[in-house]
Amino acid sequence: MVQTIFSDTIVALSTPSGAGALAVVRLSGPAAVAITAAVFSKKSLTKAAGHTLHYGTLRDPASAEIIDEVVVALYRAPRSFTREDVVEISCHGSDYVVRQVLALLLRHGARLAEAGEFTKRAFLNGALDLAQAEAVADLIAADSALSHKVALNQLRGGFSQELRDLRARLVKFAALLELELDFGEEDVEFADRTGLARLLDEGRGVVAALLHSFELGNVIKNGITAVIAGRPNAGKSTLLNALLREERAIVSAIPGTTRDFIEDEVSIDGLRFRFVDTAGLRDNPADEVEAIGVQRTRQRVRQAALLLYLFDLSEITPAEVRAEIRELTAGLDLPVLAVGNKTDLATAETLRAFEHAFNSASTASPDSTALAPLVLLAAGQNQGLEALQAALVAQVRGSALENTASATIVTNVRHARALETAAAHLAAVQAGLDTGRGTELLAADLRHALAALGEITGEISSEDLLTSIFTQFCIGK
Ligand code: GDP
Ligand code: ZN
Repeated sequence: MVQTIFSDTIVALSTPSGAGALAVVRLSGPAAVAITAAVFSKKSLTKAAGHTLHYGTLRDPASAEIIDEVVVALYRAPRSFTREDVVEISCHGSDYVVRQVLALLLRHGARLAEAGEFTKRAFLNGALDLAQAEAVADLIAADSALSHKVALNQLRGGFSQELRDLRARLVKFAALLELELDFGEEDVEFADRTGLARLLDEGRGVVAALLHSFELGNVIKNGITAVIAGRPNAGKSTLLNALLREERAIVSAIPGTTRDFIEDEVSIDGLRFRFVDTAGLRDNPADEVEAIGVQRTRQRVRQAALLLYLFDLSEITPAEVRAEIRELTAGLDLPVLAVGNKTDLATAETLRAFEHAFNSASTASPDSTALAPLVLLAAGQNQGLEALQAALVAQVRGSALENTASATIVTNVRHARALETAAAHLAAVQAGLDTGRGTELLAADLRHALAALGEITGEISSEDLLTSIFTQFCIGK
């Protein structure tokens, strides 16, 4: 029998509370099987092998009352999520039944699990490292195909392995440096300085790449903020509605009526976009409220990851569109889509003029706004939306997302902070090597870098850190 570090057995409802066809109550710990067997119709459960299913009834031995017909799934340590004996009881999903089942198990020696305690045990028993445990939380929360893929990759340890390898190699050097320190006066060098320099170079590259991926990870986890801006009546609210396929924004024929930002998220081709509708941009706002709205629009554009500049094809010239995009994005490195709306009202001549202006200028002119791809649509008629969606996805994929399937992506703020700390200390070690600094200082910086890297995977962890991570889970996870 495998000895794990916890002596008590925890229990919790592991499916969402509220009525459902089925609910799963999970137990983990040394007495998980015995506690279940005490209230289960098949006493042979105590001798059953792991990875088996058992059908029977749950009964309160005190009153002999049958509580439910259930299926018990049995996992034996260490071949379970927590590496402890685990029992999952599938019962009927009413609140009443679930409460009865939990109460029964508590009376027979189980303890109610705290938030995240199952995952915490999995970590402390060595089934998962910390980054993987956090991926469990991400996986539960993932709501786009891509964020799901990233979380799954992290759960499988893709990113942890890279860090562990790096850390293991750095630890060897650190040990040699410490050895030099032990010899004190005698001027010995066990650690090969050229080898260390090479490793530092490589290590800093790995850490920098992971840090860079955090920008992308953030986008995947939190969505790509795409701001829709343009003159009043261009059709911004109509477009937002069409994209969200629900009437969230107020559509009105009176110019300047959209004053508040209305935003929502939509998943396109596995990417999560957060669309933001803005107040119309006018040079001479009609009143103060509108003027404030215009200011806020400019502010939102500064925070955007992508700008959709929307215009009414019949109300503006290609040169004006360029000038307005240039003004909105001055000083910003922001991908822009020029979106011409109301194709149903525009003349063939107008359409040709825009296509000509945007397609021919793109290669000739050094002006970056000329590079904004042009999309023509009629938002009010639900026409051309697919082309816009394709252009949106192309903009994002074209920038950095191309290799997300295989690349390791950091999505967690805690990991990013630790990587920043590690990067700073690795840089200090390298600077120290270059300037011939003493072994003590090199060793100290290297220790700090190792501590930061170790915090990510949990090779080094404090109780505070663990508590703050695992309490973010809900009970039953
Ligand atoms: P916003 O001020 O930019 O948010 O513009 P709205 O979305 O409120 O739209 C202004 C007006 O243009 C409304 O009357 C819409 O019905 C109309 N509109 C929007 N898109 C189209 C379109 O593709 N074709 C036509 N004909 N009208 C449209
Ligand atoms: Zn509007």
